[in-house]
Amino acid sequence: MRRADMVARLEDRRHPWDMVVIGGGATGVGIAVDAASRGYDVLLLEQHDFGKGTSSRSTKLVHGGVRYLEQGNIALVMEALKERGLLRQNAPHLVSNLAFVVPNYDWWEAPFYGLGLKIYNVLAGKYGFGTSEILSRAETLSRLPTIKTDGLLGGVVYYDGQFDDARLLINLVETAADQGATLVNYVRVVGMTKGADGFVDGIVAADQETGREWTIPARVVINATGAFSDSVRRLAEPDVETMIAPSQGIHLVFHHSFLSTDSAIMVPHTSDGRVMFAIPWHGHTVVGTTDTPIGEPSLEPIAQETEIGFVLETSRRAGAGRKDLVVARTDVGHLGI
Ligand SMILES: Cc1cc2nc3c(=O)[nH]c(=O)nc-3n(C[C@H](O)[C@H](O)[C@H](O)COP(=O)(O)OP(=O)(O)OC[C@H]3O[C@@H](n4cnc5c(N)ncnc54)[C@H](O)[C@@H]3O)c2cc1C
Repeated sequence: MRRADMVARLEDRRHPWDMVVIGGGATGVGIAVDAASRGYDVLLLEQHDFGKGTSSRSTKLVHGGVRYLEQGNIALVMEALKERGLLRQNAPHLVSNLAFVVPNYDWWEAPFYGLGLKIYNVLAGKYGFGTSEILSRAETLSRLPTIKTDGLLGGVVYYDGQFDDARLLINLVETAADQGATLVNYVRVVGMTKGADGFVDGIVAADQETGREWTIPARVVINATGAFSDSVRRLAEPDVETMIAPSQGIHLVFHHSFLSTDSAIMVPHTSDGRVMFAIPWHGHTVVGTTDTPIGEPSLEPIAQETEIGFVLETSRRAGAGRKDLVVARTDVGHLGI
């Protein structure tokens, strides 16, 4: 894939595209793969690098959503577990099986999470990643050697998927291109055009490298800009009501010694009622996430002090971290997301 060839295709086009997709994240690129493989002429435009938005900053989990199971949303969990299985089948170089341990410090946790995670595995059917098991205290410590031992009763282990979000995204860009789609990065959509009937019939796009602008007609325009969707909607209708309530989530990246194992930790209940993970990742440990309402979405979000404090506090309460190393605010330097 060469950008210059893609730009040349865009410039040579003399008739409307079947579909223009705005946004080169997981949603937009997934749509491009799907539409191009059905024979449509697709143009996808991304204002920055492919995957610059949320799609390269996830917790790297391909999961059915243990949290949704707790909420009783069985249909959603089953669908996600099936997709998880298909993803491992289609991209085994990017999706792997990861053991998650829920450490138990209360008597009711082993039967409660033991049963819940059994159901999780049963719902996966033939797409299962492995049977969950109740662990003794010693077994829990051998899987999670760094966790707090005071009051530890045992644990539950279950299996879920881990993936490389940025690489999967790039592989999907390549797949869309193989299927005939035209995908160009560093092109920002800055306007919409409308036909006599008042419907959108194309877009105006600006090359971020050269400043050159193109008016590009299309039968269908898809807004796949994630958290930025409202600003793109307003290109067509400036007075349209806001749909998105933006929020951000952060991760902190610790030294591998924080976990010292290939298993992950799942904290099933944070103080704000969500789940949190500590996950081995490229020789480090990724811990997160938060869910904090923000005013405007940004391509370079900044971790807030309260979020950093929340992740550190939840890690400490969950008992994660080397016994001889209590992770403190001073250990967190760069405020990256
Ligand atoms: C903290 C966090 C952790 C998560 N963890 C997981 C996880 O472990 N597993 C999981 O499956 N999901 C996870 N998710 C969810 C997942 O990351 C998102 O659902 C997914 O990335 C959304 O993709 P998207 O394509 O809709 O948006 P994005 O990836 O944000 O893509 C939108 C793109 O649109 C582009 N754009 C915006 N405006 C324009 C314009 N005018 N012209 C051209 N391009 C434009 C942006 O540059 C951006 O690249 C997580 C989400 C968060 C926030």
